Parts: sequence; C-alpha cells; structure tokens
Amino acid sequence: MLVTEREAKSILSAQTNGFLVQGPYPFTHALSPFSGCQFGQTTCGLFCYAQYLPNWHYRSEALKPHRWGHAVEVKANAPALLGDYLAKCTQSQRRQLRIFMATATDPYMPLEKERQITRGLVEVFARYDDLDLLVIQTRSPLVARDFDLLRHIPYAWLSLTIESDDEAQNLRGGPAFTTRFAVAAAAIEAGVRTQIAVSPCLPHSDRFAPKLLATGVQRFVVDTFTAGDGQGGGRTARSPYARLVEDWDDDAPAEALADVLRGAGVDVGWSAEGFGGIPYRTEEAKKGHPGGRAAAEQGDEMQLRLLPPEPPPADAMVLTIGTPDEPRRPLPGFPYFWLKYVTGFDARYHCAQALLGPFHKGIWSTVKAPSVHVLTQPKEPWRYAYLCGVAETRWADNLHVPVEFAPGQEVEAVTYNGVRIHITNARRLDIPWLDDGWNGFPRSFTTCRNFQFAVAMFGYDGVTRPAQPEFTSANRDRSLTTLQRRARRRNNP
Ligand code: SF4
Repeated sequence: MLVTEREAKSILSAQTNGFLVQGPYPFTHALSPFSGCQFGQTTCGLFCYAQYLPNWHYRSEALKPHRWGHAVEVKANAPALLGDYLAKCTQSQRRQLRIFMATATDPYMPLEKERQITRGLVEVFARYDDLDLLVIQTRSPLVARDFDLLRHIPYAWLSLTIESDDEAQNLRGGPAFTTRFAVAAAAIEAGVRTQIAVSPCLPHSDRFAPKLLATGVQRFVVDTFTAGDGQGGGRTARSPYARLVEDWDDDAPAEALADVLRGAGVDVGWSAEGFGGIPYRTEEAKKGHPGGRAAAEQGDEMQLRLLPPEPPPADAMVLTIGTPDEPRRPLPGFPYFWLKYVTGFDARYHCAQALLGPFHKGIWSTVKAPSVHVLTQPKEPWRYAYLCGVAETRWADNLHVPVEFAPGQEVEAVTYNGVRIHITNARRLDIPWLDDGWNGFPRSFTTCRNFQFAVAMFGYDGVTRPAQPEFTSANRDRSLTTLQRRARRRNNP
C-alpha cells in the first residue's frame, strides 16, 4: 500500500448534481480527507463505484500506477483548509452548509488511526454549532475514537455502513459485521446521532432486521446496486462483484428488509432519497438562500434563482417544471435532463448530438423543481424546443417533449415519477417511430427519440452515414413490475 501526502488546494466540493443532491434535503458539499481508500482491498472494493469516479480517474501522478485500494493520498492540510473556510463564512452561510464526508473514501480507514486527519476535521467542526448538517459515512470501528467530539456537534450524524449480518458475505475481509453492530449501539449509547446505511444491501439472514433494530438506531438507509451505483446497476455489472454473485441485481431482499424496518416504526429512506433525507435544521438551509453556495462559487447564484427577475411577456414560450408552491429541490429521478433549441439535424449522431442548436441555460441535469424558464435565450433562430430527460429506471421512462411556438396553446406532461411539466404558447409535436434497420442505421439510432424526431422534422438525405458504432453499453432489463414498484416508492417515499 502506497501512502503519499499532498497539500490540497481546497477541501469542500460544491454539489450541484449527482447522488448527494437527489434527496428531499440535498447536501451542499462533499468533503474527502483522502484520495483513494485503504478498504479498497477488502470486500467493498469488489463493488466500490468510487474507483470509477473522476477524482480517482484523474488522480495525481504518484497514484497513477496503482490500482484502487493500493494507494492513498493524505490531504495533510485538510483541517487547516476547513478551518480557514468556515472562519471566512458568515453565520448565515455556515447555516446553509450540508456536508457529506465522504463519497469516495472512508474517513476512518486504518491509517487515520495514526494520521488523525479526520480527527482534525472533526475538531474544526466542533468549534462551530451553526452548520446545518455533517454526515460522516464509514464502515470503520475507528470512528468510536471520536464519539467524544461528535456527540457535542449538534449537526453531526454518523452514518455507519452495515450491508449484512452474514459474515460469509465479507468475501475479501473488512470490518466484521458483528463489530459494526456493536459500534452502532455504542454510538447511540454515547449520544451520537446515528443512522445505519445498509448500502448496498447484501444477502443476509432472517435475523438481520432484528439485529439492526437492537442497536437502538432509529434511522436507516437501504440501498441496492441498481438504485445506488449511479448508473442503474451499470457500474456494478462491470465490477468483480457481479462476476462472483449471480443475483447481485435482485432488489427484492432489500425492499423486503426496508418494509420490515418500516413496520417497526423507524425512519427508513431508500438509496439517494434516504441519504438526502435528513431534514433541515436551520431556516437558512430550508430557504436554500444562494449565499451559502455563493461563498464557495459565486457564479452559481443565477442558477439558484427560482423565478426570472421579471415576469415573462404574455406571448413568450415559458416552461414550468414542478408545482410552484412546492419546496424547491433538485429534480429527482433524472441523471440527465436538458432542453435544446433545435436549429437543425446531423444524421451522423443520435441522442442530443443529432439535434443541432444550443442548450437552454440552467437545465442541463442541474434542473431544480419547481423552476420557470423563459425559452427565448439564444440569439440564433430555432425552429423547435426539445425537452429530454433520461430516467434512472429504464429507457421507457425517459421524457421526450418536442414543441414548437404556438401562441395561445399549452403543453402538459408528467414525468414518470409525477413531476408536472407545463409549457405556455407551445404545441407538442409527434415523433413517428422508425423501423429497425431504417436506411442501414443501427438500432441505437433508430430507437432514439431525439434521432427519430430530427428525421421527422428535418428529413434525411439518404447519404450521411453514422459515424458512431452500435451503442453497446448495458441496457439492463427492467421489468414492468420493477418499474411500477420504483414509481410507487418515489411517489410515496
Ligand atoms: S470504504 Fe467506501 S470508498 Fe472505501 S473502498 Fe469501500 S466502498 Fe469504496
């Protein structure tokens, strides 16, 4: 195991899309004391998706030759950076901070015992009582060392990972589940706010739920590979774990476990909605005042504004996502969501690339609901507007709303998970289906609704051939039963 050290330039990463902002109470920042993770050589390293994320992919030159779990870089100045940052924030800005430590490492990996970087960070947090939330995610018993501090931080939560109660599931080692049950019970005993993350839920015994409940913990997050790996199971499908465990993508045991826990009257959240399910503590965080993030990234303020500064003209095409009276939060259930002003068609590509024209500012995956968008931004003339959302469940749940300007008319649509879409002064356009093999194009083109729409509206000259090869990444089967179950869960969290 290579252990190196470096001086980090910054320590908090602002979150605008992805897992941490998908819940009803999103996080504002992630914090990682280390790059890489020592636990990568244990069981969780078999499926850990952190090894596929950009911060490992673009790791420093010193780490480059090493595989996940074989090298760790210590951010030696992390406590000092955090101290400086929090000292510079106004109280109002600190009250909006909702921090998750950590998405791509374990802050209590074995080397923390000696290095005490996480301890230093917790000591900094302990100087302040006004942040909105700090969640510390770990599977390590070492966290018990810091209970003395954590119990006095009014916004701190320990999130302890316990994926199973069957030690045989620790295929390559890692902290024993029995030890982790004991740590959870000790945390409750010590007065530390604690949740257990059954993430991902691994095969377990019938006694798992009673053992979880016996710890005294009242809040649980249950997660699965298909719900939580960020690609609907795609990342796990490529992992060593999927080669070892045949039914890794069966969500049914996790759903049954969540039902049993709910039946016991404790708080149970599912996957991203569960992680982002700890309510706001402060009024400032509740209001989502832009100042909190602006301290970290001034340029984000425009994006956080709910309504356009002026009422839109009555004859403008206006897109409303969500219901205006609802609390504002990231649009759930769509890793990709965009609106393109369509000016033309390039038949060499499918999906958004086939549609020529600029994207609407502020709706590229970071869309918030409710939000209002006046569709008059680009200078270049556009013929159609194309709203496209790629769902987290299966392709059939994707959203496709092509429209053109039509004064006095309105378009209504609803996403697969119940979010309302309303467009004024617009007419919805049809997308005729293309047969497989149409003009020799591969299915990835002919089944793509963006491509089909472009062909219908702009025609095809029969000459341009596709430049992309057939699209071969996993399109995992999603049965109708699974889809309906997920839609129910989203609508009745
Ligand atoms: S502890 Fe977390 S970050 Fe580290 S290898 Fe395991 S799953 Fe990945």
